[in-house]
Amino acid sequence: MKTIIEPFKIKSVEPIRFSTREEREIVLERGHYNLFLVPADDVLIDLLTDSGTSAMSAAQWAGMMQGDESYAGARSFFRFEAKVRELTGFRHIIPTHQGRAAERILFSLVGGEGKIIPNNTHFDTTRANAEFSGAEAVDLPTREGLEPELIADFKGNMDTAALQGLIAKAGKENIPVCIMTVTNNSGGGQPVSMENIRTTAGICRSNGIPFFLDACRFAENAYFIKKRERGYRDLPMKTIVREMFSYADGATMSAKKDALVNMGGFLALNDDALAARARNLLIMTEGFPTYGGLAGRDLEAIAQGLDEVLDEHYLHYRIRSVEYLGERLVAAGVPILRPPGGHAVYLNARKFLPHVPPHQFPGQSLVVELYRTGGIRSVEIGSVMFGRNDTRGAFVPARMELVRLAIPRRVYTQSHIDYVVEVVLECFGKKDSMKGYRIVDEPPALRHFTAKFAPLE
Ligand SMILES: *Cc1c(COP(=O)(O)O)cnc(C)c1O
Repeated sequence: MKTIIEPFKIKSVEPIRFSTREEREIVLERGHYNLFLVPADDVLIDLLTDSGTSAMSAAQWAGMMQGDESYAGARSFFRFEAKVRELTGFRHIIPTHQGRAAERILFSLVGGEGKIIPNNTHFDTTRANAEFSGAEAVDLPTREGLEPELIADFKGNMDTAALQGLIAKAGKENIPVCIMTVTNNSGGGQPVSMENIRTTAGICRSNGIPFFLDACRFAENAYFIKKRERGYRDLPMKTIVREMFSYADGATMSAKKDALVNMGGFLALNDDALAARARNLLIMTEGFPTYGGLAGRDLEAIAQGLDEVLDEHYLHYRIRSVEYLGERLVAAGVPILRPPGGHAVYLNARKFLPHVPPHQFPGQSLVVELYRTGGIRSVEIGSVMFGRNDTRGAFVPARMELVRLAIPRRVYTQSHIDYVVEVVLECFGKKDSMKGYRIVDEPPALRHFTAKFAPLE
C-alpha cells in the first residue's frame, strides 16, 4: 500500500515561530507553567484543541465573499439550512454561535430542577449547561470504554443496560432528553456504533424520551462505522450519516469541529413546539433565526465545510494521521489510551511518570516538558482538570491522568507529526528526571484554565 498523503495542496501558509529551549523556559515561568497562559505565538506545534482550529479550503474562503449579510432571510442561511437538513433530515435548523449556545437553549427549555439527563459521556460544556439548568447530568459509558489499554472498536458506546436501569429508577417523566455524543470526546474520541445508536434510540422511543445526538464529530464517527461495523463498508458516507441522524429527534452541533470552520454551531430538531420556543430564546441572546449569532459568511463556510468533511479521502487521511501518531508512540513503548480516537491521541501520564503521584499532577509535568523540549502545546486531562479536594480537604484524584494531543483538521502535515513523535520520545527517554508540580493559585471553578503552578524540587 502507498503512503497516505494529505488530500490537499497548500495555497496559503502561516509561518510558525521557532524558539530556543532557553526562551521557552522563560515563557513557562511567565505563564506559571500553565500552557493556557502562554501566547500562541510562542508555540511551535499547537495541539491544545481541535476546536475552531481547522484550516478552511479555498472554496470556503470563496464562500466567505459570497456571504449574504441580510438581517432576515439571507441567501446564506438557506444554503446552510438546506445542507444541514440534507445530512440530518431534521425539520427545524437553528444556527447558533457555537455548540454550547445550542446546549444552553435546549437545556433551558427541557432541563431544570429534578430532571436527569443521561449521555454516553457529557462533554464539559454539556454537563455545565445541564447542571446550570438545575438538572443532573449522568454519564453512562460502557465498562470497556473505561479501560485505557483495551483495544475495542466502539469504546464510545452508551451502556444501554445502565440506561434502562436509570429510566426504571428515576422515572421516564424525569428524563426530558437523552444525549449520545459522537464521537465520545470526553471518553477519548472513541466512536459509537450504529447498533448502539439504534438500540439507545429504541429504548428512548419506547419510553417517550426524546433522543438527541451531540453531533460535533459526526463525520469522524460515521467513518469509524464504515471501517469497523459490519454492513457499512460499501455505503457512501452520506448514507451512513443520514442513518445516524434518522434515529434521533434532534441534535446539537459545534461547527468548530466537523464543519471545518473556526466558529459556529446549530440546534436541529423535529418537534415544532419545542423549536418555536427555542427560536424565541435564540432571538433574545443569539440573534434572529436566520443568522443566530453568525455572519452570513460563516453560514456559507459551514455549508461548504459540511460537504467537504464527508469526502472519503479527507476522512481517510484524518483518521489515519491520528492513528499513525498513536502507532508510532505505541511501537516505542509510550503508554497511550488505545486505540487512538478520531481527533486526538491521549498519553497515559500515570504510566508515563509512575514516580509522580496524582496529587503532584503527572499530566501537568508532561504537558510542561513537551513544551520545554519541543515547543508543543498539549492539554492535561487529569487531576488538574477533574481532581478536587473533598469536604475535609483530602485530595481526590481524577479517574485517569491523561495528556491530550488534539490534531487540528488540515493544519499539520506528516513531518509535523513526525516531529511530535520525536519530542514525545525525547521526553520518554528522560522521564525519570521529570518532577511533579504543585498549584500555587487557583480559581474556584474550571481551575485548569487559569491555575498557577510551581515545579516541585
Ligand atoms: C466542543 C464540544 C461541545 C461544545 O461546542 P463549542 O462550540 O465549543 O461551544 C459540545 N460537545 C462536544 C462533544 C464537543 O466536543
